[in-house]
Amino acid sequence: MNSTEYMEEAEKDLLHTYNRYGVVLEAGKGVYLFDVEGKKYLDFAAGIAVCALGYGNEEYNLALKEQVDKLLHTSNLYYNPPIIKAAELVKKASGMDRVFFTNSGTEAIEGAIKAAKKYAYTRDGHAGHEIIAMQHSFHGRSLGALSVTGNKHYQEPFEPLLEGIRFAEFNNLESVKALINDETCAILFETVQGEGGIYPATKEFIEGVSALCKEHDILLILDEIQCGMGRTGEMFAWQNYGVKPDIMTAAKALGCGVPVGAFMMTERVAEKSLVPGDHGTTYGGNPFVGAAVSKVLEIMERDQITEHVKEAAAYLSKRLDELKEKHNCVVDHRGMGLMQGLQISIPVGEVSKKALEKGLILITAGSDVLRFVPPLVIENEHVDEMYEILDAVLTEME
Ligand SMILES: *Cc1c(COP(=O)(O)O)cnc(C)c1O
Repeated sequence: MNSTEYMEEAEKDLLHTYNRYGVVLEAGKGVYLFDVEGKKYLDFAAGIAVCALGYGNEEYNLALKEQVDKLLHTSNLYYNPPIIKAAELVKKASGMDRVFFTNSGTEAIEGAIKAAKKYAYTRDGHAGHEIIAMQHSFHGRSLGALSVTGNKHYQEPFEPLLEGIRFAEFNNLESVKALINDETCAILFETVQGEGGIYPATKEFIEGVSALCKEHDILLILDEIQCGMGRTGEMFAWQNYGVKPDIMTAAKALGCGVPVGAFMMTERVAEKSLVPGDHGTTYGGNPFVGAAVSKVLEIMERDQITEHVKEAAAYLSKRLDELKEKHNCVVDHRGMGLMQGLQISIPVGEVSKKALEKGLILITAGSDVLRFVPPLVIENEHVDEMYEILDAVLTEME
């Protein structure tokens, strides 16, 4: 089948919940993707910040193949070696004490919410606690995760959602303070807002919220699903700030393409939180994803991926600054590590479509931001290649 035939078939069969780009991707190598016509694309999206190791990493692929032949699934009624190793490595990378593996980011958020509520329930002897989340946040699409996602457009058709969720303004400490009451059990935000438009938390904000949490025995929940796993130059973005969450989530690059997420917590939280009967999953943390997570973390640590990210990010940042200097349509440049955004004043969807035609995969965030979340293994030459294509697109469109 050619691209058109594939797309026609897809639009007949799949529920139309995405306006997809008009390419059918078939294979990947390094930081490049190939469509069914054999056209090559430089990938600056990494499957939405997932494929941190790029494509066709032999060591990773081999670990998965070996696990496929050994054992895929057991359920959580039994122990299995790969996930035990994965948990140990996750703990080491995050400094957290307890891990629960899920199948997605959304489920990690669900678990984090339940963990916080249970903690407060055990402490206070009653339910009915509240959570403070942020405007313009994104935490997923299930009803719980949607309830803490500060986007009316996503929420409205599905109301009523979870009760007791209050929305503060991200990076505005006073707005958080104003919402705290006796029932507040957790404050939740992305360390770097992703879908909302690439907004890193300011140091004052994250330190201020952390202090408020300590003062009131409120749990700080950081969503590291997009910004975690080395992307900001530290394994988790909060490690750039010198604060530590009580509960955190990871997913996306955790399995580098295998569907897996996790929520983690400190021992202090775990002691009063979820116990047998409170939470579960059939697939979550099976041997297959365990093999993926442990191999990803092993490679990242051994190859000092965060050091590479720091260097690559400095170069990406410099080149994006040049684009901002050169093009009037670029209004702002912000981000952290290899999670960068260019806010532009021309239609952002058109820019990413034109880039795609020229062989560059680039996604958007919010309503007017070009998002740069490439595989973490990119080199300066790839940044230059991206620059040339995007420069040409912006020049054409201005
Ligand atoms: C992608 C994302 C989620 C949801 O993860 P899924 O795997 O799509 O369920 C939650 N939070 C953040 C910050 C994300 O970027």
